[in-house]
Amino acid sequence: MPASIIDGKKIAADLRKDMKARLSGRSEGDRPGLAVVLVGDDPASAVYVNQKEKACREIGVNSFMHRLPGDTGRGELLALIGRLNASREVHGILVQLPLPEGIDTKEVISAILPQKDVDGFHPYNIGRLWSGESTVAPCTPMGIMALLDSTGIEMKGLETVVVGRSNIVGKPAAAMLLSRHCTVTMCHSRTKDLPDVVRRGDIVVAAVGIPNFVTGEMIKPGAVVIDVGINRVDGALVGDVEFEPALQRASFITPVPGGVGPMTIAMLMQNTLQLAGV
Ligand code: NDP
Repeated sequence: MPASIIDGKKIAADLRKDMKARLSGRSEGDRPGLAVVLVGDDPASAVYVNQKEKACREIGVNSFMHRLPGDTGRGELLALIGRLNASREVHGILVQLPLPEGIDTKEVISAILPQKDVDGFHPYNIGRLWSGESTVAPCTPMGIMALLDSTGIEMKGLETVVVGRSNIVGKPAAAMLLSRHCTVTMCHSRTKDLPDVVRRGDIVVAAVGIPNFVTGEMIKPGAVVIDVGINRVDGALVGDVEFEPALQRASFITPVPGGVGPMTIAMLMQNTLQLAGV
């Protein structure tokens, strides 16, 4: 029997609806505020930022957009972060990545007050996440966890394989899975016998950025498969998992598009509300 498809689009829409209801009736001055900083003209970043602005409008979050030219200097960018840190209207600050070459991303992220770090990328919040403390956590892995929870599976003790170890997806996803008592293995570009490792996974999270990297035959029968990848092939979006064959073996699987992608923005909104104390 083919896997059940996890409908991230619907789960995200339900979350946004719920947040909108929680904010309804608030005056503009009483709404959570999200500041988004976009430096340069990377087209993919511009699309993501527009989607974030749209979600803010839908839910009733005030969005403060700062579009800066690609040659913005370090001092100017840090001064803006300083003003946003001090602003009473701004509860969350997001700096859209990647930043143009020549800007030290770590320095910029570290300049955001941890209590306004809506992406959960500040070293302080990363430390709290790995220590199992409550924190504001990165949006995509939070979306992954919400999708896993939607299946109703008991995660405790399951063999979980995360393919990809980026700071924004793979590593924080591993920390969250560990905190839910999964047995977590992380794979990356130097992993030996990667297909054998993936075959052990009761849960497989693919965040590699290579189309169809995780093939159907790597999926253990009955596994839950979360495909984070967003790759453009011949004008179409495809994930990191070879979908059709994996669908035949898995118990649950996320589609691309319509799986993890919509959850990321819903979780950004959730983090904004959390930082605003809503
Ligand atoms: P990165 O490029 O930062 O990381 C990719 C990871 O994959 C690295 O850890 C890398 O290993 C590993 N990798 C690359 N090649 C191989 C290989 N041949 N074998 C094994 N591992 C390999 O990517 P991100 O984590 O930022 O993103 C991953 C994917 O998820 C992309 O398609 C991206 O577009 C998508 N994405 C989707 C989001 C969403 O909202 N749905 C949000 C963020 C990302 P190493 O560390 O050794 O180099």
